[in-house]
Formats: sequence, C-alpha cells, structure tokens
Amino acid sequence: MSGGRRLYLDGVSVVFDGFRALNNLSLIVEPGELRSVIGPNGAGKTTMMDVITGKTRPTQGTVNFGEIDLTRMDEAGIANLGIGRKFQKPTMFDALTVFENMELALKAPRGPIACLRWKLTGGARAQIEQTLEEIGLQERAQDLAGILSHGQRQWLEIGMLLMQDPELLLVDEPVAGMTDAETEQTAALLVRIAGRRSVVVVEHDLEFVRALGRRVTVLCDGSVLSEGSIDHVQNDPRVIEVYLGR
Ligand code: ADP
Repeated sequence: MSGGRRLYLDGVSVVFDGFRALNNLSLIVEPGELRSVIGPNGAGKTTMMDVITGKTRPTQGTVNFGEIDLTRMDEAGIANLGIGRKFQKPTMFDALTVFENMELALKAPRGPIACLRWKLTGGARAQIEQTLEEIGLQERAQDLAGILSHGQRQWLEIGMLLMQDPELLLVDEPVAGMTDAETEQTAALLVRIAGRRSVVVVEHDLEFVRALGRRVTVLCDGSVLSEGSIDHVQNDPRVIEVYLGR
C-alpha cells in the first residue's frame, strides 16, 4: 500500500501494581499488512491492543504510527487518526436494519479528512452497498440486525468499522463461537480488507490463523516469543513448550 503508515511499538512495557503485563514488547506492522497475534491467556494480547488505541498508557517505551507518537495521544485522538478496533462482542442496534446500522456508523463522529474523502467519493449509499458486498451481507441489507447469525453480526460490525475508513484495523478474536464455514469466510474477509489497510488480528484459533496465511507473532509473558509464518512458529520449540508444556 502506498503512503500508508507503519505501526511501531518500541520497547513497550506496561506495569500494573508491579506486574508486567507487557515487558519490553517491540513489534512492527507494515502498511497494508495482515498480522496475527497469538499467545496463551495472560500473554498480554489485550494490553497490547489497549496500548495501541490509547486505552492504556505504556509505563515505558513508545508507540508510533508513521511519524506520529501515539504514546502522547488520548483514545479519541488515536481513533481520529484512522485506527479502529473491533471488540469481541458486537455493538449494534438490533431493531435497525443492516443498512441503517451501516448508515449510523458512517455518520458517527469522524475526523475532517475522512469526512472530506466521503464527500468526494459520491456519498453514502454507494459506499454502504460496496462495503455490504465486501462483508458478504448485500442480500441482508433490509433485514433487522437482530435476526442475523452470530457470524453475520461479527461481519456487520467489521463493516461498520470500515465505514469509518480506518487505516489500521485491530480485531479481537473475531471467530470465537463461529461455525467452520463462518470461520473460513471471516479469514477470506480479513484477507480482502488488508492491503488497502493494515489489520492486526488477536486470535486463539490456530486453524484460523493458518487460513489467514500471513505473518504471525506469538506473545508470551508480555513480549514476543516467536515471529514468522504459521509453520515457523508452530515448529518453534519455545512455542510448543508454551502451548503444550504449561
Ligand atoms: P491476554 O489478552 O493475552 O489474555 P491480557 O493483556 O489481558 O492478556 O493480560 C496480561 C496480564 O496482565 C494478565 O496476567 C492480566 O491478569 C494482567 N492485567 C491485565 N489488565 C490488568 C489490570 N488492569 N490490572 C492488573 N492486571 C492486569
């Protein structure tokens, strides 16, 4: 992706009451990259997402997005830069249609640059329809969000985030509770989304991470234990010990 910004965590530590949730964590996500982050419970995955989005401030180290130092910014400022986050539990209005939820997401507070881009690209309807196609819900536009399946709700929420035109999308355990077919479709969706945007996916499901087929970072005890292809990290003796030996 040309002109995109690189995410760079440099030596980030987060200490809660003397406990190091992140311990000198360094990580680079290139513009347009799709990165999976895995690791056992308590590895620091959620804290890492919290630090990137400004929910938690690092005790040490810096987080940069391109030239911008996120460490000095608050959550709203970071969101306005084009960093979106999807939490595990979808938030939407069940009594509104899929299309109406997308419309609301489009009208949510946006930075001036995103607003200008939207005006220049010809308005809401085309953009919503295009995104519904991207998330595979074009046939469901007039259905109430409340009748969607669990998987479809996750996709709708990803679509709602896309309406904000994020440059970096952070996705927290998107396939928890999904059927195998939904999991496969979610992998294809995230692969489609990346490229034009950077995507960081935190996930437990190794088969899903394999389906994403991109670079994987394994976190353990708040820092990077291993990084590379899924085959590389799955064969790394340190990773095997952490997943099977504990
Ligand atoms: P993961 O998402 O990989 O399961 P977390 O980032 O949630 O890991 O947590 C990392 C460690 O930090 C855990 O041991 C957790 O108990 C601890 N932790 C997370 N948030 C807090 C907090 N607000 N106060 C104290 N400890 C915390």
